[in-house]
Amino acid sequence: MSIRSIDDLEVEGRRVFVRVDFNVPLANGEVADDARIRAALPTLTRLLERGAKLVVASHLGRPKGKPKPEYSLEPVAARLAELLGVDEVVLPDDCIGDGARKVVSDLREGGVVLLENLRFHEGEEKNDPAFAKELAALADVYVNDAFGAAHRAHASVCALPQLMEERAAGLLMQAELAALGRIQDDPPRPYYAVLGGAKVSDKIAVIEALMKRVDGLFIGGAMANTFLAARGFELGKSLVETDKLPLARTLLQKADAAGIAVHLPVDLRVADSTSATSGEVVTVDDVSTDVMALDIGPATVQRYGSILAKAACIFWNGPMGLFENEAFAEGTFGIARQIAASPAFSVVGGGDSVAAVNRTGLASSFGHVSTGGGASLEFLEGRKLPGVEALR
Ligand code: ADP
Ligand code: MG
Repeated sequence: MSIRSIDDLEVEGRRVFVRVDFNVPLANGEVADDARIRAALPTLTRLLERGAKLVVASHLGRPKGKPKPEYSLEPVAARLAELLGVDEVVLPDDCIGDGARKVVSDLREGGVVLLENLRFHEGEEKNDPAFAKELAALADVYVNDAFGAAHRAHASVCALPQLMEERAAGLLMQAELAALGRIQDDPPRPYYAVLGGAKVSDKIAVIEALMKRVDGLFIGGAMANTFLAARGFELGKSLVETDKLPLARTLLQKADAAGIAVHLPVDLRVADSTSATSGEVVTVDDVSTDVMALDIGPATVQRYGSILAKAACIFWNGPMGLFENEAFAEGTFGIARQIAASPAFSVVGGGDSVAAVNRTGLASSFGHVSTGGGASLEFLEGRKLPGVEALR
């Protein structure tokens, strides 16, 4: 069954429940990065223009089923009101119950309610039908624009839409599904994947899935350390998942057998600690016992870049180094620049990877910047996302 879009819904004068992903970083009681709020604005403004009454809902952090003031969506409501240019976004202090029902029944056309953190109730993460029923009582129509939460079978994205007669994907959700669907089903070729980040173990399933689809894999970050160690290089004090060496060897063998090139770094930026203020570039066969690899080196960036320049499609997940420390950011930023400059259709996913791309200011040169880290990886693993299936 196909998924409807918000333009297929009759929304004028009706209460529209919009599940968004407002799981934003907070600092000193304020929204530190409002990218996720901005990402939902096209859907919210389109619905408001068409005379909807908005009942917006999200989770924030991990309050573990209990109300905790530090996870209140209050700062988000304030920022949302500013971004929407409305006088007020009403925030009842609970997402269900009499308070929420009262606020929603007082809503006028063009009005916006933001429900308090869904995860203040255990029922959310348990996909509890009774909790979903309480949410369902607050709206006539359901829209999911929270791609970042689509891989979780939680009540607001799974049980709830199934209780609603009319449901649709928001514009952000549609854009995510279109971009990821394109690279999954019919990628222009050559199609390359660039993978990095902290651990091989986080990403085994996606590496295996991508191996069946891509024309080459480019590995960086701490993940590369484990692959290099599997190929027999000495990595000193670097982060290496020693228990994953046999697995890394198996993955390399599988790629060989399938004729897929797996590119590993040829040089690394090393230092004696993660807080070092500078690093030294060495070739991969020259890492001494007292240092750790914290970034890929310039020769690697150049090598990867020269092949990526000829790509027709690129998927990138995982920073190439400890980019949070400026001294080890050049590998990640260099790869970001190379992908941005490539004419390929490029998709970047992953919380840290997207943060890195945003820091380079090059996000607009990517084909698609995914708002869903885990969700984008599960999609590319070929798994069905509960929050997407529930919209059918
Ligand atoms: P994403 O969120 O994009 O999926 P990950 O969470 O898998 O990415 O990995 C990001 C983290 O990996 C970053 O915090 C980065 O500092 C860290 N990292 C990458 N390379 C290294 C390295 N060589 N040594 C230590 N940490 C690294
Ligand atoms: Mg991460």
